[in-house]
Amino acid sequence: MVTGGSRGIGRAVVDRALAEGDEVFVLARSATRADWPAELGGRVVPVPVDVADAGSVAAAFTRITRPVDVLVNSAGVHRGGLIEQVGDAAWNEVLATNLTGAFTVVRAARPLLTAGSSVVNIGAVVGLRGFAGDVAYGSAKAGLSGLTQTLAVEFARDGVRVNLVVPGFVETDMTDGIPAAARERLVAGIPMGRPGRAAEIADVVWSVAGSSYMTGSTVAVDGGLLASFGAPGGRRREPGISG
Ligand code: NAP
Repeated sequence: MVTGGSRGIGRAVVDRALAEGDEVFVLARSATRADWPAELGGRVVPVPVDVADAGSVAAAFTRITRPVDVLVNSAGVHRGGLIEQVGDAAWNEVLATNLTGAFTVVRAARPLLTAGSSVVNIGAVVGLRGFAGDVAYGSAKAGLSGLTQTLAVEFARDGVRVNLVVPGFVETDMTDGIPAAARERLVAGIPMGRPGRAAEIADVVWSVAGSSYMTGSTVAVDGGLLASFGAPGGRRREPGISG
């Protein structure tokens, strides 16, 4: 089961699971069967859902009764801005989607998670380190880190694992609109010197999902970005550009 499986990193996770022969529930507002080749038949089950709307999540889960081996929470939105620029609407949207959405979905899915199941939440570097201009997104992703660790402890006795995979800067619709100059600066700050690809994140999600003794862990997939944070740019104060 992949929230945000219609595009970007979530889509790459879905495609990886399908390539491995799995059946996948794709949860996204625009999830539609037409997005995948017909020959996959019923192995892709699109479930149109708004994770920011508890009623929508509850309604979606009335249709899902089968056990879930892996739940990936990838649904997310980014709204940048310094604290004085971020209005209530943007703050609420980001928190409702990236943090409360994951909480609501895991809570709804909990009865379907059994011994051996795992949850992988998709965090962000800015949820682990301060980054000017990402007050809403960074706060939501920091919360997701707390949610991950709490649930890892709560679920451990039942054999259900919960981990956080932290991408750096990845080429998707979310990062498409970043102005060229900001993008150049960001890429220059990545030790590996290039953005990540969604499939590179999906590889790690796949591996974390299947790691039988890993829970409550944070796994960065960021070309070295997290390792290098804190040096240049630490005093910068301008609108955020990072995912
Ligand atoms: P993306 O290409 O914009 O895709 C976002 C996905 O989330 C879409 O499938 C979208 O589907 C879904 N979504 C958004 N709001 C939703 C809602 N209210 N209910 C249900 N689904 C919703 O973004 P991405 O780059 O793949 O990001 C995926 C995850 O990785 C996010 O959590 C993001 O914060 C995280 N991340 C991304 C980067 C990066 O550089 N790209 C870096 C770090 C972390 P619909 O529009 O159809 O609902």
